[in-house]
Amino acid sequence: METAETEGLLAASKLVRAADTAPDVPGIAPNGSPRRSKRPAGPRDWTWQLRHAVTTAEGLAKTLSLTPDELAGARRAEEAGLPIRVTPYYLQLCDRDDPTCPIRLQCVPRLDESAVVEGDLADPLGEEAHEVAPHLVQRYPDRALLLATDRCAVYCRFCTRSRMVGDGGGSVSLDKLDPAFTYLAAHPEVRDVILSGGDPLSMSTDRLVRVIARLREIESIETIRLATRTPVTLPQRITGELVRALKPHHPLWVMTHFNHPKELTPEAERACRRLVDHGFPVMNQTVLLRGINDDAATLETLFRGLVRWRVRPYYLLQMDPVRGTSHLRTALARGIQIMERLQGHLTGIALPKFIVDTPGGMGKIPMGPSYVVSHRPGVTRVRTHRGVEVDYVDPPDASASVPASTSI
Ligand code: SF4
Repeated sequence: METAETEGLLAASKLVRAADTAPDVPGIAPNGSPRRSKRPAGPRDWTWQLRHAVTTAEGLAKTLSLTPDELAGARRAEEAGLPIRVTPYYLQLCDRDDPTCPIRLQCVPRLDESAVVEGDLADPLGEEAHEVAPHLVQRYPDRALLLATDRCAVYCRFCTRSRMVGDGGGSVSLDKLDPAFTYLAAHPEVRDVILSGGDPLSMSTDRLVRVIARLREIESIETIRLATRTPVTLPQRITGELVRALKPHHPLWVMTHFNHPKELTPEAERACRRLVDHGFPVMNQTVLLRGINDDAATLETLFRGLVRWRVRPYYLLQMDPVRGTSHLRTALARGIQIMERLQGHLTGIALPKFIVDTPGGMGKIPMGPSYVVSHRPGVTRVRTHRGVEVDYVDPPDASASVPASTSI
């Protein structure tokens, strides 16, 4: 089960293995020695989790009582499309007997993945068309996306980048990323770089730090975001060694991906607390998934739980029309309806924006219910979450400063 990638990870992290499992307390040396005796790696070690990740239909069937549909879907995934990969940690969150378990639906393939419906796209965000240098995508003037690896701890069945994740390339070498760094240095308007993949935290700490240090040499880059699902699927990855190695490169933001309250485990809480305590703002992007989290009560529980951990619910994302994922996608109206239920009932710091990333890479737009009932010069009638209609009156002459083309 050990792959070349995990062997590489092991080699790269050999010197810091003890620190990977060490509690994050003063007095522990960054390399984990000499004050701490080495213990054999076990489930609390992230490299152990990667080495023991389940990658086959038979592996899933050993832990879960698979339905015929799941078994056929898993066999198909082994041969075509998005491969299987589930860490033992995430697998044990699955209900063994219930195929509608919200965790199981996210990581166990279904035969539905072979279905292609109208509107499905292999690359729904047009990332290949917006590639400005190898592995670098720019869809907005001030930010860019650096795809540094194709590996993840778990391959999510709704993945927007299913066209490329797990395709065998592994981590991209610094040499191969060099044209991307050159482009960024030549384009100072790019101030925010999102390091993604795959999952950048599936790389060894050493390699990750080298990529970030290289980005930090480019003075115009102000913020770096790490797009990672490891706090959810591999929380053991958020080690003391990792946060200490990354901290000198702040401001670093962590963008993660909790989708269901079942993912709010003590291990995940520890990972998020460690990140926040070390100065990493943690933002969460929940994907709205049919049959998994597409109801207001489930999302309210999730968002309130995240806020208790100091993780900001940032986006609720309408699923991208990725080929082979229509069985997990909701109608757009469902998300709008959910936002209407949450608005006014959920504290503002727990309420994300509902976002549609328009197909073809045309950019993200916020969506939601309309609260404007009517408008006449100087007076807008709005409806509150209580259903009450109220007139908002502009100050005299203020309308003159608004271009006539701006409609409410
Ligand atoms: S962790 Fe992110 S990139 Fe990897 S499979 Fe899941 S959604 Fe896709």
